[in-house]
Amino acid sequence: MKKKKKKIKKIKKHIKRKARTVKKEVVVQKIYINGRLIEKEHAKISVFDHGLLYGDGVFEGIRVYDNLIFKLREHIDRLYASAQAIALDVPIGKRQMVDAMIKTLRANRLRDGYIRVIVTRGVGDLGLDPRKCKGNACIIIIADSIALYPEKLYKDGLSIMTVPTRKNIPEAINSQIKSLNYLNNILAKIEAMNSGAEEAIMLNQDGFVSECTGDNIFIVKNQKLMTPPVHCGVLKGITRGAVIDLTNRSKIACSEEVLTRYDLYNADECFLSGTAAEIIPVVKIDGRIISAGKPGPITLKLTRDLSLLTKIDGVRY
Ligand code: PMP
Repeated sequence: MKKKKKKIKKIKKHIKRKARTVKKEVVVQKIYINGRLIEKEHAKISVFDHGLLYGDGVFEGIRVYDNLIFKLREHIDRLYASAQAIALDVPIGKRQMVDAMIKTLRANRLRDGYIRVIVTRGVGDLGLDPRKCKGNACIIIIADSIALYPEKLYKDGLSIMTVPTRKNIPEAINSQIKSLNYLNNILAKIEAMNSGAEEAIMLNQDGFVSECTGDNIFIVKNQKLMTPPVHCGVLKGITRGAVIDLTNRSKIACSEEVLTRYDLYNADECFLSGTAAEIIPVVKIDGRIISAGKPGPITLKLTRDLSLLTKIDGVRY
């Protein structure tokens, strides 16, 4: 009997020790590059890759909530549509791309986080001719976490401002293409930050409101939600789409409207939407206080609704 007790004690001790070592185990981040999972430190691509040399490529940012990939199909479809628009052959199909994403998520033991999928034109020479990129396009998948704005701003709201840098005209680069060229947006962000604002409102060439540097913009006026239409130079945001769906479900009026800065200044509420940002309230635009300086009720309701949606709407892995 004594011997048996001793044995059980020994086993219990062993299990405890094992549990401690599992807890301590650090997962080294692994990056997917062209079919291989490579430790972050060694995850490298060629300096001749045209994604680096010319911004020649496309990408997606996708969120994962408690093992559910939110709006997966929409993101995959947009990735392949962006690639199609720049005549870039993605060397694997959509199904394989999803498998690769899931493989990367699992390898990194990520339950909550953010996946960045990048497809570049691949390795060429120093000229911009894409025909010189002889091998396949390069596929990179990074599973990580992301925080676009500090937590405090989700409670207090953002101060944003219109900036001089405009959106590309659709005849140049269509805003629907989620390409590796974000230079206007980066300049816009710098302009906003230099002036003490957290985010920039970009106008299109005609001076109408388009979007922010990595988010779509919504305003509320007289209980009605409005966001600029795609032809105003907007990326057709997937979170934007989810917000529109949520308003339909809760019978909040919502429409796409061509908006001016006047409309923004006189809004009852304003918020931004995006995969990385989710929904973030705006309380100041170009020095004008919006929504009495705090997040408005419709903004808060949609934030709650979106959060609930992310718990049920997604592909489990
Ligand atoms: N506009 C721009 C320019 C963006 O980069 C993003 C983020 N991808 C968005 C809007 C929001 O789009 P989504 O909701 O699909 O992330």
